[in-house]
Amino acid sequence: MQASDRISNINLGGSDGWEVFNRARQLMAEDHNIVELTIGEHDIKTHPSILNAMHEAACAGQTGYASVPGSDKLRDLVAARVQSRTGVVTSRDNVMITPGGQAGLFAAHLAACNERDKALYVEPYYATYPSTIRSLGLEAISIPTKAEDAFEPQEECLRSSAKTARSLLINSPNNPSGTVYSRACIDMIARVSQETDLWLISDEVYDTQVWSGEHISPRAMPNMTERCLVIGSMSKSHAMTGSRVGWIVGPEHMIDKLIDLATNMTYGIPGYIQEAAYFALSQGPEMEKEVAAPFARRRSLAMAILEDFPNVSAIDPRGAMYLMVDIRKTGLSGDAFANKLLDEHQIAVMPGESFGRSAAGHLRVAMTIEDRAFEKALRKLCSFANDLSQDA
Ligand code: PMP
Repeated sequence: MQASDRISNINLGGSDGWEVFNRARQLMAEDHNIVELTIGEHDIKTHPSILNAMHEAACAGQTGYASVPGSDKLRDLVAARVQSRTGVVTSRDNVMITPGGQAGLFAAHLAACNERDKALYVEPYYATYPSTIRSLGLEAISIPTKAEDAFEPQEECLRSSAKTARSLLINSPNNPSGTVYSRACIDMIARVSQETDLWLISDEVYDTQVWSGEHISPRAMPNMTERCLVIGSMSKSHAMTGSRVGWIVGPEHMIDKLIDLATNMTYGIPGYIQEAAYFALSQGPEMEKEVAAPFARRRSLAMAILEDFPNVSAIDPRGAMYLMVDIRKTGLSGDAFANKLLDEHQIAVMPGESFGRSAAGHLRVAMTIEDRAFEKALRKLCSFANDLSQDA
């Protein structure tokens, strides 16, 4: 018996963009000393006080089936957080708790699109976007962007694809580029979404990691609340990647339907994880700032280092835990450079091409190791690129 076309086509074969990452992992398994700057995972662990809340809840008996949409108090707290940060009136009926942002992305597309609809996403993109969309039997269509535009989508290009599409997925602060969409950009996206009648799915899992500019949720733009599904997560904001807890915020009638989906798919998330999330969110922005602080520091370090290397530049890293380094002056592709860097200097980074053609000739550097080691690795990378540029 064959697997269905839908599940067989989640990955289309060919390069999946993870070759350098896999090679680095293999070398590490063979005891090679590799500086690992590929993956978006904090170098700190979940705070002990959050683990304590999790433990206490489990010991107090929260190990049975939990409320499918999430506990009332957690949904209330997420709603209050969203309302205070966006000014949009939000209640628990606008919130469903999900097993992480990834499940939220999947569910939001299922709720917004009919089979074979066109679903748009912006390049460069978080690795799972096209495959999440494809796995739902939708046509995944990328909107290219340019480094010169800080990887922000441009109106003409978006509008031409939007005419026949059902949804648009955006991500600001952005993985992999570190860009944070300007107000003008969000405004344009909101306008185009209304004029071409799109569902706007806004992935805001990095909303606590903004280094310059401001995070603007499109749900807060005029007339957008009813066509916006916002994806949130505790993974990045509270270093809780393994706990798998996030949410979808959207119109009440969509949350109703999403609860039907959760009932038939995940049946909610564990009560003790919800208690841990409740505790963590109750700590307010202070805890989020503490988790974000190492990336803010390393971003400043990176900006200073880049000034010493005239042939290497980076997209202004306004947010998230990544640096998008432009190595086009070397004449090498991101892929070729990343492989060479791994072979010759034992440093692993993601080639820009892994996130779509728009990021060709770039590298995504995760700022996820201790400051001094990060500084040393970035200097080595920049000096390698600088030397190759002079030869080019
Ligand atoms: N969106 C983006 C842009 C991401 O980078 C990630 C994880 N790296 C996710 C969603 C999914 O995160 P999680 O499922 O852990 O919430």
